[in-house]
Amino acid sequence: MTMPYRQLGKTGIKISALSFGAWVTFGKQIGDPVAEKLLHTAYDAGINFFDNAESYADGQAEVVMGAILKKSGWRRSSYLVSSKVFFGGEGDRPNEDGLSRKHIVEACHGALRRLQVDYLDLYYCHRPDATVPMVEKCRAMHDLIVQGKVLYWGTSEWSAAEIREAHAVCDELGLYHPVVEQPQYNLFHRARVEKEYASLYRAPGLGTTIWSPLASGLLTGKYNAGMPEGARLNVAGLEWLRDSVLKDPKAKKKLSAVTKLAAIAEGLGTSLPCLAIAWCLKNPRVSTVILGASKVEQLTENLKSLEVAERLTPQLVRKIETISGSAAD
Ligand code: NDP
Repeated sequence: MTMPYRQLGKTGIKISALSFGAWVTFGKQIGDPVAEKLLHTAYDAGINFFDNAESYADGQAEVVMGAILKKSGWRRSSYLVSSKVFFGGEGDRPNEDGLSRKHIVEACHGALRRLQVDYLDLYYCHRPDATVPMVEKCRAMHDLIVQGKVLYWGTSEWSAAEIREAHAVCDELGLYHPVVEQPQYNLFHRARVEKEYASLYRAPGLGTTIWSPLASGLLTGKYNAGMPEGARLNVAGLEWLRDSVLKDPKAKKKLSAVTKLAAIAEGLGTSLPCLAIAWCLKNPRVSTVILGASKVEQLTENLKSLEVAERLTPQLVRKIETISGSAAD
């Protein structure tokens, strides 16, 4: 199926309904040749947004992506690339993380260097930082836009109240507003996108580039039969993620819901990952679903979710939500 494109919130940007991110894979879990095949598979399928961050593999994910973009010869106008600032990259001395003007600007310069591009299409504050005045964060982002180093700025996992405060500051001072939020959204994690942000979509306007549509792989069913070799929750250094997913008080309920969802997927003649991603695509508030993959076959499979979304009737969506609902956060 051909890739649909959606308007990113109230911006003029058209973003592919599925996009592709580098978290824990590029520069860490997978070799560079696999990363290159993944990015090419994504681009060839019509994906036009590649997501990255200063903290992914301490900057190495951006180095790997930058080298692939450079070698590809793709027109710069044919894709969007992002970075995010907050967690820091290579260094861990004071001012090498957070959202001070100093770090926002230095992290942007670092991302441009590593990605080998002249500007970032999207630049996110990766988390809120209450130690920095809102005006300092908004003005730093505004200045980067004025300088042409960033085209649009946004937030990731900010509360609705924090996003509103940023808009109020930008209104008052005539600064460029944040236009996009990057929240977690999947069958087990829904409240923020569906309830907390509900009042932000129309005004001031919010696009969403949602992450972990498969809850780090839980929604593929691969963890129902134990711990698969080489899978994300079994990767050295990611024990914190394994614990946050599998030691979650609702983990058992989630695994049991996954078994029931697998039966629905089977009835539809599709896979569990495609069903879970298709469900995300059905939400019109979602501008793009950011996919992650450690293997080309996973990405090829997950791209079929576009066709599955077309077949998800309101009745099926209700059935899926009834099953996952009691296990959702
Ligand atoms: P998912 O929840 O979809 O997890 C992707 C992982 O699931 C893959 O790397 C793979 O891991 C496994 N997987 C995917 N497809 C299949 C399949 N068909 N069969 C079996 N296993 C599969 O997404 P991510 O958590 O990777 O998030 C996507 C992107 O969102 C990130 O790359 C990043 O760009 C962004 N993000 C942003 C965050 C933020 O704070 N703003 C936080 C997290 C992510 P494996 O093979 O290793 O098991």
